[in-house]
Amino acid sequence: MIKFGPSGTGLAFGEDGLSKTIQVPSWLKAKNLDLFEYSFGRGVRIGEETARSYGEEFAKHGIEISVHAPYFINMATDDEQKALNNHNYLIDSITALKNLGGNRCVFHPGSPLKKNRRDAMDILIGRMDIMLQEMYDLGHNDILLGVETMGKFAQLGDEDEVIEIVSRDNMLVPCIDFGHLNARTCGGITGYDEYARIIEKFINGVGFEKVDNMHIHFSKIEYSPKGEVRHLTFGDTQYGPDYEPLAKAFYEFDIHPYVVCESAGTQTEDSLYMKNYYNSLK
Ligand SMILES: [Zn+2]
Repeated sequence: MIKFGPSGTGLAFGEDGLSKTIQVPSWLKAKNLDLFEYSFGRGVRIGEETARSYGEEFAKHGIEISVHAPYFINMATDDEQKALNNHNYLIDSITALKNLGGNRCVFHPGSPLKKNRRDAMDILIGRMDIMLQEMYDLGHNDILLGVETMGKFAQLGDEDEVIEIVSRDNMLVPCIDFGHLNARTCGGITGYDEYARIIEKFINGVGFEKVDNMHIHFSKIEYSPKGEVRHLTFGDTQYGPDYEPLAKAFYEFDIHPYVVCESAGTQTEDSLYMKNYYNSLK
């Protein structure tokens, strides 16, 4: 089943007089949403007991949970100490995810910094293989690890790079961030045909099953010639991309991704719009 929900709670949570994470599951349930993405963007700061107590509440209300690993992870680094730290941040994210009762963790692949892209990809793939082996050793191979398409041209994570990484193991799925792809191509997603091209390319690259089960991040994003500048709300009419043709593509391709809205502050309202619009096309 396709699922919709926000990354973080946004402004509406506070406006409803709420402030505690333990209140999130019932709040989302009351709004008829399905999913919550817990961001460890600035670090994994949740103890086992706390995570388990949140997890019970999410399960009770039938809200699926996913996590976003820290933004500072760079799997393409050539610094061995940093590589070890990154490895541990990912394992910590996955451990917290499992304590929360979820089974999807998303991460940003990394940046080449001063290396050329191919060399950076080779380093990244070597480090991913070590990471994946540890996940098998720890029995963490029952989760899906989402590799995100990135919004700045300088970052690894264009379509081909994500396909190459995701093809390496059954645990890996694409996390297509259509706002990012639109930003890194300075407005390349102009309508249904471009969404269809991207989805078809991923089906050809990683197989239908992984695309059917993929993770999606969606928001409208301001961009410059270097790509992503900042996330916007669905109120934006200048940068896009438009969501509506993507909802049509979900039906045309008969795919059932988890769709996380990352609007700036309005992610809960916007994800509900996405769900309702999708259902209106039935
Ligand atoms: Zn992300």
